[in-house]
Amino acid sequence: MAINFPIPTYFVDMVFINRLKSLISKSFFPHDGATNLRHDSAALTSAATDFGHMVSDPPAAVLFPSSVNDIITLVKLANSRSVPFNIAAKGCGHSVRGQAMAGNGVVVEMTSLNNPTRISISGSESVGFFADVGGEQLWIDVLNATLKHGLAPASWTDYLYLTVGGTLSNAGISGQTFRYGPQISNVVELDVVTGKGDLVSCSAERNKELFNSVLGGLGQFGIIVRARIPLFQAPNRVKWVRMLYSNFSEFVKDQEKLISMSNNGSKQKGALDYLEGLLLMHDGPPDNWRSSFFPPSHHSTIISLVNQHSIIYCLEVAKYYDNRSRHTLDKELDDLLEGLDFLPRYKFEKDVSYVEFLNRVRGGELSLRSQGVWDVPHPWLNLFVPKSRIIEFNSGIFKDIILKRKITNGPILIYPMNRSKWDDKMSAVIPEEEVFYTIGFLNSSGFEDWEAMEEQNKEILRFCNSVDMKIKQYLPHYKTKEDWEKHFGPKWKMIQDRKKEFDPKMILSPGQKIFNP
Ligand code: FAD
Repeated sequence: MAINFPIPTYFVDMVFINRLKSLISKSFFPHDGATNLRHDSAALTSAATDFGHMVSDPPAAVLFPSSVNDIITLVKLANSRSVPFNIAAKGCGHSVRGQAMAGNGVVVEMTSLNNPTRISISGSESVGFFADVGGEQLWIDVLNATLKHGLAPASWTDYLYLTVGGTLSNAGISGQTFRYGPQISNVVELDVVTGKGDLVSCSAERNKELFNSVLGGLGQFGIIVRARIPLFQAPNRVKWVRMLYSNFSEFVKDQEKLISMSNNGSKQKGALDYLEGLLLMHDGPPDNWRSSFFPPSHHSTIISLVNQHSIIYCLEVAKYYDNRSRHTLDKELDDLLEGLDFLPRYKFEKDVSYVEFLNRVRGGELSLRSQGVWDVPHPWLNLFVPKSRIIEFNSGIFKDIILKRKITNGPILIYPMNRSKWDDKMSAVIPEEEVFYTIGFLNSSGFEDWEAMEEQNKEILRFCNSVDMKIKQYLPHYKTKEDWEKHFGPKWKMIQDRKKEFDPKMILSPGQKIFNP
């Protein structure tokens, strides 16, 4: 099912386009300035569409850079005008509420920089190994390139067809985060084109304010054109286990126990590598597009269990192994899972390759694409919830709002992580408690009924506010300055100062609606 947002011709300001084209001369764009900067309806429609399919804000033009210099030229040009135009870097447009759009400005299609030379591996046993990757690179390409050397990054997202610059602008989280931290904690150096058009290398030691600003910075302070990511020896295989619970308190108690055991120094060697959780609800098959897991022969038993309890909580863990650790794997896993209170008999295991595990969402994506239901509205809501409020979240939201409305149509994920694995100097915002949960309502809908799901999202947020739950949105979306101020809390002044320093004309990522709501 394709979506066609109409692009009215009055959005295309030909005077502006012609001025841009004459200013961006062929000497800056050696290949051909005219083809790098496009304003045809295919380019504008693509830049005005994202995975959410709920908003559309067409730019005046789209830049397809062939080099980092093209981006620098564009940003400098915007700065040189008395009324600067906005610029948004766009990775794959996997945002859901227009965060990578730039209405009437210029969208930079980062993936047009992509070529194999923009991933390189360096290092040695003594100093460690690193991948230098372009901000436009997809994580799946980073994985494939590093695996050729038997190496891989430690921290991932569930889905790998996201760009490095896009996830580093948010945080990049998955079941590895409790142990290795988010992706923003797993990068040691960046090259950034600031909002002033300067190309700056930065790290935790050099130009550290820019480094900390950009990581989790929602694209506000600069465009990431290179990231240096530490690499570790990659395992070959993964033991992947799911256990079912009918009791929420037991479920979260066991999740918290497992992350604390795996973060305890003395147990580090035998620790879990991944922990997530999800809800099974309503009728329908227990598998979803994010991963098919349960053996078909058990589907009917699991469906009966869900019907009996309304909600079943599924704890999901994984442990990596290779030929050297194969013989100790089962014993280590048994030790870790011993004493957990899942429903007896409801433990399922899979043994898969490392790539199959990390790339587990791709199969579901291709299947939805083949049915024409991938490019549909996605009224997603992602929250961070402090551990002390998680029981209340279950009773007030899962057991009440979600069960009563019965419209949820997509996975609901829930898993804990540790604040100490995040760096508070970075721009990302998380709850104050040491342990907090991420909860993702990953709805998909038809083009006619997404508003009902947005209404449910609003009800969830109203409930959290009414009991002062102190949640934070992940991949946040707000429309007013007051809401952004509340979101950033004590970091708000720092965020404003960073904007003044690195993007004083407020050119970058206007779709986030932080400084230009
Ligand atoms: P875009 O959506 O294109 O951009 C996101 C923001 O970053 C925009 O503001 C944009 O202007 C800015 N930006 C883009 N590139 C750059 C750059 N190089 N430099 C500076 N700013 C830039 N997230 C997780 O953390 N964990 C998950 O497991 C996860 N799973 C997902 C699964 C699916 C199917 C989808 C659609 C999304 C998922 N996400 C997940 C969310 C994802 O991290 C965000 O959508 C993120 O924005 C990356 O997407 P993107 O690369 O397409 O960036």
